[in-house]
Amino acid sequence: MNSLTNVVLNRFSFLGDLTHLVFPETCVSCSNELSKEEKSICSICQSELIETNFHLAKEATVMDQLFWGRFEVCKAYSYLFFEKEKSSQHVLFSLKYRDNPAIGEYFGKEIAKRLLVMSEFTDVDAFIPAPLHPKKAFLRGYNQSEALAKGMSDALNIRLDTNSIIRAKHGSTQTKKNRFQRWDNVQSTFKTKKSILHYNHVVLVDDVITTGSTLESIAQSIREVHPKIKISIVTLAMS
Ligand SMILES: [Zn+2]
Repeated sequence: MNSLTNVVLNRFSFLGDLTHLVFPETCVSCSNELSKEEKSICSICQSELIETNFHLAKEATVMDQLFWGRFEVCKAYSYLFFEKEKSSQHVLFSLKYRDNPAIGEYFGKEIAKRLLVMSEFTDVDAFIPAPLHPKKAFLRGYNQSEALAKGMSDALNIRLDTNSIIRAKHGSTQTKKNRFQRWDNVQSTFKTKKSILHYNHVVLVDDVITTGSTLESIAQSIREVHPKIKISIVTLAMS
């Protein structure tokens, strides 16, 4: 390395130190200052997260079973068990409301490491985040599922598709309601565009899964356009 490169690199690392000093990053869970080595979450809160370890399971997990008899899923994976009042709740809250895509991308990258050990994910063509509810998009303008999917997409060098699925507005009896009631009345109906036909295997990404009904209705809309496509599901947490 020549001396000029050294000077430039030193300056950058000095600027990094300075930025850290002036604007220290804080933990998404406990809000304590992060050390230079920590990203998004401190090591204590990270250690409190309860990982499912589904990526190591040899047989179908409860996450796979959630979809049995509803629609065909290639593989379903969730990174964390959601627990109230614990680290995972703070993480999900920060992911949704801190308006900081870096949090989602950080966890997306963590998830990507686990996807690499599962054979079902070797032929994925695209990650598709669940579209935000229009009411939330209106209030927030930021989709946490997209941030997660972007982290995975960047880490695995697989396409991120935010265009093929859209939320279709529902019903024509909404005119007498005020603006917020109208938003509330928007049902989870989805429309899939023909661009989905480019893919053989897509992964639907969401932040937290409870009943799986949103993902089920997205999957239904995809199969109306592309009946033979393989669909997998990945979420940050399951409750
Ligand atoms: Zn913390």
